[in-house]
Amino acid sequence: MERKKLTIALAGNPNSGKTTIFNNITGSRQKVGNWPGVTVEKKEGNISRFGYDLTIIDLPGTYSLTPFSIEEIIARDFVVEECPDVVIDIIDASSLERGLYLATQLRETDCKVIFALNMADLAKTRGIKINAEKLSELLNVPVVFTVGNKNEGIDALLEAAIKLAESSSEVPQKRKVRYNRDIENSISKLQSLIEQKIADKLSYNTRWTAIKLVEDDEIVKKRILDNARDSAQDILNEAQSQRSYLKHCFGDEPEIITASERYGFIAGIIKEVHAASNKERVDISRNIDLVLTNRFIGFPIFFLFIWAMFQATFSFGAYPMEWIDMGIGLISSGLDGFLPESLFKDLLLNGIIAGVGSVIIFLPNIMVLFFCIAIFEDTGYMARVAFLMDKIMHLIGLHGKSFIPMLMGFGCNVPAIMAARTLESEKDRILTILIIPFMSCSAKLPIYIVLAATFFGVKAGNVIFSIYLIGIIFSIITGRLFRLTILTGADAPFVMELPPYRVPMLKSLLIHMWDRSKMFFKKMGGIILIGSVVVWALSAFPRNIEYSFDYHGEIEKIESSYESEIKADNVDNKILKKKKDADILEITRAQRAEQVEKSYMGRIGKSISPLFLPIGIDWRGGVALLTGFVAKEIVVSTMAVLYAAEEESDALKNALLSSGMTPLSALSMMTFVLLYLPCLATVAAIKRETGSFKLMFFSIAYNTSVAWFIAFCVYQGGKLLGA
Ligand code: GDP
Ligand code: MG
Repeated sequence: MERKKLTIALAGNPNSGKTTIFNNITGSRQKVGNWPGVTVEKKEGNISRFGYDLTIIDLPGTYSLTPFSIEEIIARDFVVEECPDVVIDIIDASSLERGLYLATQLRETDCKVIFALNMADLAKTRGIKINAEKLSELLNVPVVFTVGNKNEGIDALLEAAIKLAESSSEVPQKRKVRYNRDIENSISKLQSLIEQKIADKLSYNTRWTAIKLVEDDEIVKKRILDNARDSAQDILNEAQSQRSYLKHCFGDEPEIITASERYGFIAGIIKEVHAASNKERVDISRNIDLVLTNRFIGFPIFFLFIWAMFQATFSFGAYPMEWIDMGIGLISSGLDGFLPESLFKDLLLNGIIAGVGSVIIFLPNIMVLFFCIAIFEDTGYMARVAFLMDKIMHLIGLHGKSFIPMLMGFGCNVPAIMAARTLESEKDRILTILIIPFMSCSAKLPIYIVLAATFFGVKAGNVIFSIYLIGIIFSIITGRLFRLTILTGADAPFVMELPPYRVPMLKSLLIHMWDRSKMFFKKMGGIILIGSVVVWALSAFPRNIEYSFDYHGEIEKIESSYESEIKADNVDNKILKKKKDADILEITRAQRAEQVEKSYMGRIGKSISPLFLPIGIDWRGGVALLTGFVAKEIVVSTMAVLYAAEEESDALKNALLSSGMTPLSALSMMTFVLLYLPCLATVAAIKRETGSFKLMFFSIAYNTSVAWFIAFCVYQGGKLLGA
């Protein structure tokens, strides 16, 4: 019977004990030569063990696979081109952090890797404890402790290496370094281009190739040019433009960013697997982390940041908001005088301008919110939040990593749900996706702002902050509930990256803010415009309403009565005229109210009002909430159409105050908005990402019933307490 042949390469930092282990394994059966073309020593040995013919290769010692030195080029070329069956990465356990840099780079290739934590004796005497099980779990790599110079653990290492080589499982693609959003974007663009054009001509892993192109790796570039002449140039051009975009974003070479993110990934691993009693190298990032990820002060600081974010959103946004509001008022009163009375004018003023205008004024708030989120992301604080939340997230059986998509949900649920892709375990992902809708998105912010500013005045910022907090609490309760019922099981292990802190560049903050705010503009011209027109049409038709009162006659009566008074007494005409206008305005308001009530919209509202009355919301609020399914922004524009009849500024505020709504019912409405069914785009994202209609409908039903129940408790409870 033919014996199976396996090639095993030993990689590792200089002085990690490679040659010692190589000698232990091969004994005298080794030949020493040079690597082709260079004077770097090549050691190769052939032995038979455990029924296999093994070829062992001692690669040159390197700290990385970035091809700067000849040793690095040899080691890397061997790994990515010769594709040994297994690479044993020999890591000096007494300086794990340094060794892991090469290890993470090896994990990025398509090779099967196993770790030998060598110098286990040294680590022990230095008081370093390494949780090998955790390390193995985090990186999905087998780990064996060895003491090279005493030949300890070498058999176990060989056995594990053979087992790995023979395992049919593919090289796990997950549990690798994930770079930041911009770099991942560039990688995936390049990767799909490579897959389209030259995948068949190149033996490299496509993701790895894309990363190397982002890093401007000369050797990989040359390889692409040699292998795929015709399409190579397109790819290299795209790589160049991605690189200059990244440079523009970070103000630094992309390869420096990728390297520092690898260190961040490693810092995360170290934090979880290392229990060192000796003094560790302390740098600025670590010092900051001592405070920000501290169990006791970390939380108050986190809440302070989030609180400051909402205060800023509310207060910095207020000034431009006023200007925009005034601008819209001007346009609308200008058009009012200019256009003749017609259905079109009604559509333009009361449908489009009132609807879209009522939403557009929140643009400054939303941009401030996105700006703050960009600061969290770009400074590296976001990763710390994940770390901090880890303990709490474990309460719901999730890893702290799930908190990042959740926090992004504050901006918009759709990208947040997509960001959950970084979670490996299917159950973790689904659970995270299901609780994201409780993270109140920026589109709901206008609703809170209108209601809180109207009914809570100076306390508005605090009220909004508490609403968001309630959202977080509900996501936790829900997560726990689902973990105990429909998605039972433990959370999957995960490396939490701790990238170094960086001072964010204003340019990149602005780019990130703009990237996300763009969507808001698109929605404005699309779904919100259409929604406003539909809402207007439903409230403007049918046209031939039989009024219960002769408004027209009443107006004429008022006019003629004032007319005679003005004539009789011409001393104080101005005051009289003002009084007359006010009286007429009241009548037109009443007429408009009756008209809306008898419109299609009114009929819909009346038929659903029994559902909303117990939670303190009248039929107009009910209709507004209903339209919120299309997009949450439309809730405000619907309220503008239904409550406010005039184009004066502050119209909605005044109309709400006189509509019978109380602070309590406003609070109830806010909690309902916070918790009820997500918008159309989010629902579609849930379906897409979970691939399940069942989960989608479940999410809709669950959220809406929770929302109703909680709003009911708030409203009825508040009434009992006499609020
Ligand atoms: P290489 O550069 O990776 O090939 O490393 P070597 O195999 O030449 O080893 C460097 C030094 O570390 C030698 O003096 C070895 O005797 C020593 N060494 C190797 N493994 C161990 C170990 O597990 N524990 C200790 N204490 N020393 C070791
Ligand atoms: Mg050596």
